[in-house]
Amino acid sequence: MNQASIPAMKSALFNRQPDDKPFLIAGPCSAETEEQVLETCQRLAATGKVQALRAGIWKPRTKPGGFEGVGTRGLPWLKRASELTGLPTAVEVATAKHVEDCLAFGIDILWVGARTTGNPFSVQEIASALRGVDVPVLVKNPIHPELELWVGAVERLQKAGVPQIGLIHRGFSSYGNTDFRNAPMWHLPIEMRRRLPGLPLLCDPSHICGRRDTLAAVAQQALNLGFDGNMLESHIDPDNAWSDAKQQITPEVLRALIQDLVWRHEPT
Ligand code: PEP
Ligand code: MN
Repeated sequence: MNQASIPAMKSALFNRQPDDKPFLIAGPCSAETEEQVLETCQRLAATGKVQALRAGIWKPRTKPGGFEGVGTRGLPWLKRASELTGLPTAVEVATAKHVEDCLAFGIDILWVGARTTGNPFSVQEIASALRGVDVPVLVKNPIHPELELWVGAVERLQKAGVPQIGLIHRGFSSYGNTDFRNAPMWHLPIEMRRRLPGLPLLCDPSHICGRRDTLAAVAQQALNLGFDGNMLESHIDPDNAWSDAKQQITPEVLRALIQDLVWRHEPT
């Protein structure tokens, strides 16, 4: 599969046209092994629904003792997945070193995770590492419902000259039991869009739901609210995933989920 169309696919996210179908980024929560990354990505590409592949390489775990990611050795696996599928790749970065490593291995899109967006020192470090670099960056909302930190993270990247910036809504942590792993608080991403018009806005139903059975409803709600698309976690063996097992779905289940979404009265 050739990679010639990768620049066009990236610009489909950042230069949205009124008739563009919702954008979909999909891939495992974490890269685990080369075989898992290649098989997941090839099966995702075969669905014909995915415009970019994702995988976590460095995993920001809330508590110590969990799987913290395979690290830099996973980057060539993603590069290979991109060569095999012709799809661009997206990876979470939390430090300047992560940025340098991703750029060295030709990762196409970077994203700032929820735990990092809430830390201005880390965001500034990433922004400074991106000065003069032409790579798109997606910024997830911070864990807690603090819109100014989300705006501030985008402003730091804008000031560093990052040419293409997008937003990912992954829900907000709230204390106690709720139906969601992270409450959607839809008014906040909508307010964010008002504050920063023109930036593509994706929804991350996987981290909002934390479970499989509500993913479709949240992905649909995002489209109903005019989001530009979704980012969804997908794994070849979800129950045995090394992180976020409960919320991942196989590429084939993801295909059916996307197929059933309605966008402007048309199927996606
Ligand atoms: C992820 O995308 O796997 C992730 C760690 O997400 P978040 O930063 O939204 O918790
Ligand atoms: Mn995850």
